[in-house]
Parts: sequence; structure tokens; C-alpha cells
Amino acid sequence: MQAYFSDKTVLITGAAGFIGSHLVDQLLKFGATVIGVDNFITGRHVNLQHLANNSHFTLIEADVSQPVASYLSQEQLESLGLVLHFASPASPPAYQNKPIETYLVNSSGTHNLLSALQANNPDCRLLFASTSEVYGDPLVHPQTEDYFGNVNPNGERSCYDEAKRLGETICGVFQRYYQMDVRIVRIFNTYGPRMRFDDGRILPNFINQALERKPLTVYGEGKQTRSYCFVDDLVRGILLLASGAELSGETVNLGNPEEYTVLETAVLVQKIINGSVAADDILFHDLPKDDPTRRKPDISKATELLDFTPIVDFRTGLEQTIAYFESPESKILD
Ligand code: NAD
Ligand code: UDP
Repeated sequence: MQAYFSDKTVLITGAAGFIGSHLVDQLLKFGATVIGVDNFITGRHVNLQHLANNSHFTLIEADVSQPVASYLSQEQLESLGLVLHFASPASPPAYQNKPIETYLVNSSGTHNLLSALQANNPDCRLLFASTSEVYGDPLVHPQTEDYFGNVNPNGERSCYDEAKRLGETICGVFQRYYQMDVRIVRIFNTYGPRMRFDDGRILPNFINQALERKPLTVYGEGKQTRSYCFVDDLVRGILLLASGAELSGETVNLGNPEEYTVLETAVLVQKIINGSVAADDILFHDLPKDDPTRRKPDISKATELLDFTPIVDFRTGLEQTIAYFESPESKILD
């Protein structure tokens, strides 16, 4: 896949975020020229600071919900061979705190990118970062791509879930109506270095609570499940999907199907960091509304189309993530 990227100029929206910044690094390693765009609503400069003197990387501070011409020159737009549209708050507390920005970047942002490409550079490929949240509180388990989901259209999570679903709709329209090369990745819970310390998602919360010897905040009874993918595996899968031949119009789940309850997750994190678990190491809180009960990706399509299988086991990935949260860099909030 490296050869596909080596002569490409790639635009990454959300480049200063957790996944976006890892994509930037891998694409630069593959020899691509990268333009990153971010408005730093949840992203951090520190995630890209090591690239300050890299002549193959340009960082533009802008809101990608706005028309593309407001932040890219005509020359830059025409130079693009690939767009990875990853801009969007992703943590439930973050997107519930910025609901309008969240639905705009996934809807208007996706529309503005695709319409600018259609008018100026219609052969440029676009990959949209969708989510397992399009399945809502799923009634099918594990979740396959052909499942339409069970989403509350007007709940606390809908600014994100429904916006991702509309983003997928917009991708499908440009792909079918204009025969553009558009691909969709449905990402399941991913973790690793460069997540924000104050992100609010399960693993940054549990790891930082355990490191500070505070009780781990389990929501509900902790019986709900998630399946966690280490970021290196996810990035490999994304770049396989972005570079593969004849995948236009495909929607593919990416994640690690190993499923844990939230309580099992808390116990494992606490044991790795502090060696044992006592009753007062865990504090039960109310379960947030519409919190999905079970989540596990069926990745047979990714395996078949991309030869993708995750290789980093949960304990190894957790150890790397814990080491990151022990580093001073993780405490920098900008
Ligand atoms: P993140 O919050 O770390 O990164 C998102 C980045 O997008 C941030 O740098 C933020 O500043 C930027 N951004 C948001 N709105 C923007 C706008 N209007 N203009 C420019 N930049 C903007 O989140 P992440 O975990 O890296 O997620 C990246 C993408 O992957 C998101 O689209 C998210 O929905 C998707 N995703 C992530 C996960 C996961 O487990 N991490 C799961 C499913 C989907
Ligand atoms: N969760 C928890 N304690 C926390 C943070 C999250 O018990 O401090 C639970 C949350 O209720 C959900 C699961 O962990 O069931 C995953 O939450 P996260 O916010 O990471 O992502 P989600 O998969 O819900 O989008």
C-alpha cells in the first residue's frame, strides 16, 4: 500500500486529533505530502509539534464546516489525490458539549468537501470517518455493515450519531450521482497514545483515575460491553481501505472484536496499574441516557476486502497507552 501514497498529496481534516495525528505520521512515513486542517476544538498542537520543521507537512488552522475555498487555495485543492475526513469531536462528553459544531462538521463539512472536489478535482478520492454509533443501541450482535441500526433521532447522542449517518448519506449521493470515489470506514472504540487526558472516554478516564489512585467511575452496573482497537491497528486498516483498488462505494467496519464489559475493563486497568482491585477502587455512577448496551464489530468484510486483522492485544495496547499517560506530554491540553 505504501506505493499508493508515495506520490500523493493527502488532505487530513482533524489532523491534530488522536486518530488524525497518527494518520499524518504514517502517511509521511509512506512518502506522502500531507496538508492537515484543524480548528483545535478538541485537537492539540502537541500532537503535531514534532512535525514543525517537516517540509512535507502543512498545518492549516480552519473550520472544515466552512466552504473549502475559505481555507485551501485553488492550487492546493487541485493537487489533492486523497482526502481523509476525520474532523469531528468523538468523545460523548465532547460532542454533547459542542452539539452544533458536531452535526455541522459531519454534515456541512462532508458536503462542502465533496462539492468542492466534484467541481474542481472530481478524480480525488475521499474517505469519511464514520462510527459504530450509526448502529445506535444495536439489536444485531456483532454488528455487520448491512445492519441499519437502532438510533434515537432526538437523544443526547444524536448530534453525533445522526450527523454521521447523514455524512454517510452525503457520501453515497456523491458516489452514486457523480461517480466519485468515496469510501466509508465505521470505526469502533479505538484507544492509544495522544488521546486527551480530559477526553472523558472510558480508557483515558480509567487509566488516569488508576494512575492517580482515585476510584474508577463505572457508569451503570458496568454490564454494557465495548470492543477496543489499538490505534496502530486502526490506522493500518484505514490506509488499506483508502488505498485499495476498486473499493469505491464500500462501507467497512474497523475495530477489534474482542469484547469486554465495562466492569471487566475497569478491573483489568486497575490490576495492570495498581496490581489488585479492592471494593472501593470502583465507584458506580448513573448510566448515561442511550448508552449502547453491547458493541462488537463483525470485521469479516474488512478481512475479506483488505486482509485486515488487528494484531495488538488489549493488554499490550493498554501498557503503551498507560506509558503515554505517565508522560508529561499527555498533560498538555493544547
Ligand atoms: P479527536 O477529538 O481526538 O479528533 C478530532 C479532531 O477534529 C480534533 O483535532 C478536532 O479539533 C478536529 N475538528 C473537529 N471539528 C472540526 C472542524 N469543524 N474543523 C476542523 N477540525 C475540526 O477524535 P478522534 O478520536 O481522533 O476521532 C477522529 C474521527 O474518528 C472523528 O471523525 C470520529 O468521529 C471518528 N471516530 C473515532 C472513534 C474512536 O474510537 N476514537 C470511533 C468512531 C469514530
Ligand atoms: N464509561 C464508564 N465510565 C467512564 C467513561 C465511560 O463506565 O468514566 C462507559 C460508558 O457508559 C460506555 C462505555 O464506558 O458504556 C464506553 O464509553 P465511551 O465514552 O468511551 O464511548 P462510547 O462507546 O459510549 O461512545
